[in-house]
Amino acid sequence: MKIVIAGAGIGGLTAALCLHREGHKVELFEAVDELRPLGVGINLMPHSSGVLHGLGLGDALDEMAIRTRAIEYRTRFGHLIQSDPRSVEAGFEFPQYSIHRGELQFLLLDTVRARLGPDAVTSGKIVTGFIQDDDGVRVKFADGTSHGCDLLIGADGFRSKLRQQLHPDEGPAHYEGTMMWRGANLQAPFADGRTMFIAGDHNVKFVCYPISGRAARDGKALLNWVAELRQDQPRAAEEADWTREGGRDFIARFFDFQMHDIDIAALLRSTRQITQYPMIDRDPLPWWTQGRVTLLGDAAHPMYPMGANGASQAIVDAQALAAALKAQPGPAGLLAYESVRRPVTTAVVLSNRETGPERVLDIAAARVKGPDDRIEDLISPAELEAVAANYRQVAGFMKKAI
Ligand SMILES: Cc1cc2nc3c(=O)[nH]c(=O)nc-3n(C[C@H](O)[C@H](O)[C@H](O)COP(=O)(O)OP(=O)(O)OC[C@H]3O[C@@H](n4cnc5c(N)ncnc54)[C@H](O)[C@@H]3O)c2cc1C
Repeated sequence: MKIVIAGAGIGGLTAALCLHREGHKVELFEAVDELRPLGVGINLMPHSSGVLHGLGLGDALDEMAIRTRAIEYRTRFGHLIQSDPRSVEAGFEFPQYSIHRGELQFLLLDTVRARLGPDAVTSGKIVTGFIQDDDGVRVKFADGTSHGCDLLIGADGFRSKLRQQLHPDEGPAHYEGTMMWRGANLQAPFADGRTMFIAGDHNVKFVCYPISGRAARDGKALLNWVAELRQDQPRAAEEADWTREGGRDFIARFFDFQMHDIDIAALLRSTRQITQYPMIDRDPLPWWTQGRVTLLGDAAHPMYPMGANGASQAIVDAQALAAALKAQPGPAGLLAYESVRRPVTTAVVLSNRETGPERVLDIAAARVKGPDDRIEDLISPAELEAVAANYRQVAGFMKKAI
């Protein structure tokens, strides 16, 4: 089949590779004139890195990314609340990777061009909508042109035009009340160089992890960080721009964070480029598919970055879409894809609104009042593991039976 994908982000490019592998002719149309490796760090959960390994990208990921050993949840006083292992050694079939979003996007883009052809991605083409009948779809562009295909996949991100056409009465984005400042700094590694930590609580939180295999081989760490503060004022949706520059006043709120292995204030002060982005998502949709058109990734299920699942769920969508179309070509395959992926991603969106696996931070913050308190006196490991295990099940990355 001839399949058009709107959007050459992480989800759209992965879908192109998965669909091409099944023998479809795939074309991507991307809004920006020139793709640039934008963003900072993201995480690939084990099930999504399995999809990329299946596409033959495992060696490249090992070269450019960090195989995350564990996510440590810590109090602001530096107590280790829980270490949630993520490695192959801990029982996952594939590793979790921490990686620069732009580097991952360009790995996927280069692979798409190599496998599908140099013209597979047309940039500077803003998809505005579609018309369809029993025989096919016509994709409409902002420049007044249109393009015919058999199926259309909306992988056009948070502000998806295709989602807008399918659900014109959807309300505004959902704002959680948290602003996130983000950055990355090249410096000395902390811990074992493969640890991600999330410290604080729902109101004042700090996330940090290394994202560069190249830096690690040079004995350094490119440390990605996210500083989150809950704010009272509602934010305008226009503030959701990944390149928006952030101020530095927030840094003072992290002066009292005491980690034994890293100086957070020094990391924040040393970071040259800081961006800010509000924590927003959208309500889960009652349906994604209309005839020959469906949605994928953030266009289908934008979620808060709790549990670091945004990119991972888009990648898993891509594989599920290709598998469903293999079993049932045409519109029936799109419906089958939706029936597999919509319930799962709806549960992840809703779980992330309840802070997902990061609930352990709030459990600890309610009980641990100072640096001399002992976690083991206040919280049982079973209580913490129940939160982690529940989220692994919701998000779909289970350990092998070992
Ligand atoms: C510039 C940018 C920077 C980001 N940085 C980070 C980050 O630092 N950390 C993080 O956790 N997440 C980041 N994200 C979000 C993250 O990539 C996604 O949440 C996740 O990877 C899901 O991927 P996706 O392909 O569904 O959406 P996205 O990765 O957002 O990709 C959507 C693509 O569709 C294109 N597009 C949008 N509208 C149209 C249209 N009308 N017609 C054609 N194409 C269109 C966009 O330009 C983009 O390339 C960023 C997204 C973008 C676009």
